Amino acid sequence: MATDIQVKIRRVIARNPATGETLREFECASAAEVTAAVERARAAQPAWAELGVWARVDILRRFQRLLHQNKDEVACIITRENGKPQVEALLTEVLVVLDAARFLIENAHAILKPEPVPHGNLVMKTKSARLLREPYGVIGIISPWNYPFSTPATEGLAALVAGNAVVMKPSEFTPLAALEVGRLLHEAGVPHDIFQVVVGDGLTGAALTEASIDKIVFTGSVRTGKRVAETAATKLLPVLLELGGKDPMLVLDDVELEAVTSAALWGAFMNAGQTCLSVERCYVHRSLYEKFLAAVVEKTGKLRLGNGMDPETDVGPMIHEQQLRVVEAQVADAIARGARLLYGGRRLPELGPTFYAPTVLADVTHGMLIMREETFGPVLPVMPFATDDEALRLANDSEFGLAASVWTSHRRRGEALARRIQAGTVMVNDVISCYGISEAPHGGVKLSGLGRAHGRLGLEEMVRVKYVDSDLLPRIRKVWWYGYGEKFARQMDGFLDLLFSRNWTRRISGGLRSLRAYFRSGRL
Ligand code: NAD
Repeated sequence: MATDIQVKIRRVIARNPATGETLREFECASAAEVTAAVERARAAQPAWAELGVWARVDILRRFQRLLHQNKDEVACIITRENGKPQVEALLTEVLVVLDAARFLIENAHAILKPEPVPHGNLVMKTKSARLLREPYGVIGIISPWNYPFSTPATEGLAALVAGNAVVMKPSEFTPLAALEVGRLLHEAGVPHDIFQVVVGDGLTGAALTEASIDKIVFTGSVRTGKRVAETAATKLLPVLLELGGKDPMLVLDDVELEAVTSAALWGAFMNAGQTCLSVERCYVHRSLYEKFLAAVVEKTGKLRLGNGMDPETDVGPMIHEQQLRVVEAQVADAIARGARLLYGGRRLPELGPTFYAPTVLADVTHGMLIMREETFGPVLPVMPFATDDEALRLANDSEFGLAASVWTSHRRRGEALARRIQAGTVMVNDVISCYGISEAPHGGVKLSGLGRAHGRLGLEEMVRVKYVDSDLLPRIRKVWWYGYGEKFARQMDGFLDLLFSRNWTRRISGGLRSLRAYFRSGRL
């Protein structure tokens, strides 16, 4: 029977943000297609888990080799789709993934193998116990556009090596980079149903969260992360949430300005400021404030903006018009409330549709949007402080808690402050680099998320822990298996004294009492 119900087809378009050119157009995967992908993944996953860690590590090794051989092509895909300079695509995406593969190749077996659990409790000494780390089954991964290759790849590799199947939904703005992750994985030997990419928009992402998956790994904005968490809560679906940041940089009064100002510049403008870990709030000790600003403005003036395919380019375009408008509104709000615009603060239409000049703002305050909301654009807002305690108070005065940096010539002073900063990561004398350290867990506190990606903790997110123990004396009846009575109560009383009394005489007498009651109970 003919039906007149129209199914509206939604589309996503991968565009080159430097030129506006359409790279490829896709139909969004429908909810039915997402469900079918998850079902295929579920059917294929047991065989993948059966393969064992070493076989999966071999496949990762092949993936790593292929990625290395194809590094320039991959960087080119990332740059054309996301806009970042090609050297940044190599440094912050390809290198990060090669090293994440290295970490898993070297460590996955040791982390995932059964772990003995020694028992401290005397009564349980007859048991041999293990923690088993078992794959969840099917993991859904949803990614943003700012690290379109390294985010799905690092999370995907960890999920796969642990024995899971993956259905991943890339950002609607950068599907090509995620499809490249899939192409390389398949060529390396990962079965097609074990790593699938479903291209689409937010509704496709919502369909994946609602599908019959076993865990959702979400990287993106706080707003979407909360929605994903709400859906997950109704099913008690485990979630890993890697969300936004408003990372502070604290420049103490004992630094050398040359290195610190270069770090501030790169930390704020790298990837056109569209990095969850970018320097978003810069606090400088009052004694260095004007000198810091002068140096930063001078260095900003030397940055070369343009198409990321040009090797001379330092800063590329922003991803899209909507993002640019948010940044413009934040900068306008800051200026209206008394911030000094020292550099930039305007679009550069002569370069392309979404170029925005690297912008330096001074005298900002926490009453301005630029110091409260995440700024996904090339803006460095700077504010003075007088004491370390004030800097700390300002750093912690945020809903976010992804990462932070402290700059000082005295490591102890830096680390003492680091301990008091509310963030998932604090770097003393560096910015952003923690993302490139495969051993370092990546994740936030407060609104910046839940759980950790990368490193040992990131791999542990991809498994369920099961505790298994075997009793080594199966023929012996346990004393607590009924037959309660006064003798048993005396035995327990003495036993607790033996184990936990702080008085040695009571311990010994408790032990003797317990033994006597045991022998008299006839439970042997
Ligand atoms: P976003 O939240 O708009 O989108 C992220 C992904 O979620 C996209 O794939 C999108 O299609 C999907 N999505 C949208 N609506 C959905 C829904 N209802 N259900 C499920 N999925 C849905 O974020 P964005 O603009 O793509 O990325 C920028 C954000 O990502 C920033 O806030 C940035 O800080 C954050 N980020 C965080 C990290 C981290 O590791 N903490 C890393 C990179 C980016």
